[in-house]
Amino acid sequence: MSFSFENQVALVTGAASGIGLATAKAFAQAGASVTLADLYGDAARTAAQELVDAGYPAIGIQCDVGDTEQIQAMIKETVATFGRLDAAFNNAGIQNVLAEIADATIEDFDRVISINLRSVWNCMKFELQHMREQGSGTIVNCSSLGGLVGGAQRANYHAAKHGVIGLTKSAALEYATRNIRVNAVCPGLIWTPMVDQMVAAGQKEAMEGMVQAIPMGRHGRPEEIADAVLWLCSNTSSYVTGQSISVDGGFVMR
Ligand code: NAD
Repeated sequence: MSFSFENQVALVTGAASGIGLATAKAFAQAGASVTLADLYGDAARTAAQELVDAGYPAIGIQCDVGDTEQIQAMIKETVATFGRLDAAFNNAGIQNVLAEIADATIEDFDRVISINLRSVWNCMKFELQHMREQGSGTIVNCSSLGGLVGGAQRANYHAAKHGVIGLTKSAALEYATRNIRVNAVCPGLIWTPMVDQMVAAGQKEAMEGMVQAIPMGRHGRPEEIADAVLWLCSNTSSYVTGQSISVDGGFVMR
């Protein structure tokens, strides 16, 4: 799929790996100037440098989305470098430690809610301040199939991802008349380093079982999420806001 983001500026969090990296590359290839932000600053800067070497304007920034000051600084540096902010993909996320609620720790709950939900509110807050002043913008938040269904031993993650959809719908309503659209993507099983980590942590059988439950019979690729994000940020989705688009091979249709 090809879109034009010429003269536009895109920001991606969690951009050093997986879905975020694929989306940052897709934005760059579509003509956007791109900020790649990640907890791992060196990896974000290396990925940005690869884009610059290929002829695309990009910067890499270290940003822990659990930290308000770092989020503010990320947006400030993006606008200072490229002059505006048109599209933001709030993508950074982590898994919870697998455990029944009765056995889970409050620390893991707080950690997952902080990185997967509170960060989306916080990123949107400062992105929207800029977009409101600019008079335009598009935001896509990364939820999950876990934002649509429950998951045994995954309550912390699923609670956070359900929350992302509530934030998305509410923000979409607030800005619907102000030329700012807010949507979410709900990836299914997408093979990324996050899934490699789950396999390494002993979840290989669970992942294989999940693939069998996918109507299309295969896992997804990060580029397939990037295509959905670019569509949601492009003018070709100009009448779409507040939606949570599943990109999951039909998983939640069962
Ligand atoms: P990934 O682990 O490959 O990439 C996540 C990136 O986020 C990493 O680069 C990591 O360094 C970064 N990150 C983690 N904590 C951060 C923090 N505090 N601040 C800034 N960056 C941080 O994972 P992925 O599979 O590409 O996941 C991306 C998003 O997609 C996540 O929100 C995840 O929940 C969601 N998702 C993934 C799948 C899947 O199957 N891979 C399915 C549904 C939803």
